[in-house]
Amino acid sequence: MNIIALLLAYAFMEFVAWSNHKYVMHGFLWRWHKDHHVNDLKRADDELRKEKGFEKNDLFFLIYAIPAIVLMITGLSNKNNLLIFIAAGITLYGLTYFLLHDVIYHKRIRITFLQENNNRYTRAIIAAHRAHHKPKNAKDFNNYGLLVFPLRYFNQ
Ligand SMILES: [Zn+2]
Ligand SMILES: [Zn+2]
Repeated sequence: MNIIALLLAYAFMEFVAWSNHKYVMHGFLWRWHKDHHVNDLKRADDELRKEKGFEKNDLFFLIYAIPAIVLMITGLSNKNNLLIFIAAGITLYGLTYFLLHDVIYHKRIRITFLQENNNRYTRAIIAAHRAHHKPKNAKDFNNYGLLVFPLRYFNQ
């Protein structure tokens, strides 16, 4: 049961990330997300990011961390395993997002073994996210999710 709660929380976070990206980041909080989109026009996909440091966009990471921390503390202090597992699911999703999006795709830091050994699924994730950053058409730009995307990106 706890594991199911963890997996559901993880899957739910993909939905949260997708809807937040689509309606909030490209909506009324575009001013926080904008700097995530300006840099990549100047940069080839396979080079390590030269401009180091934080983006305003990273504020979203902090906001996502808050519910996970609150749930974890509440779960631990009330010995409620369900809350602990839900918090773990959110945290694992955040870690996945960071590794796939910030390390593997945007190469903000160098972790060679992650960046060089991409499987078919990871390559499709990269293709889908690249489509959002460097869209050739409106459909491309519409890739607001990370782990879930149209199947056509498996063939690119
Ligand atoms: Zn975006
Ligand atoms: Zn990105």
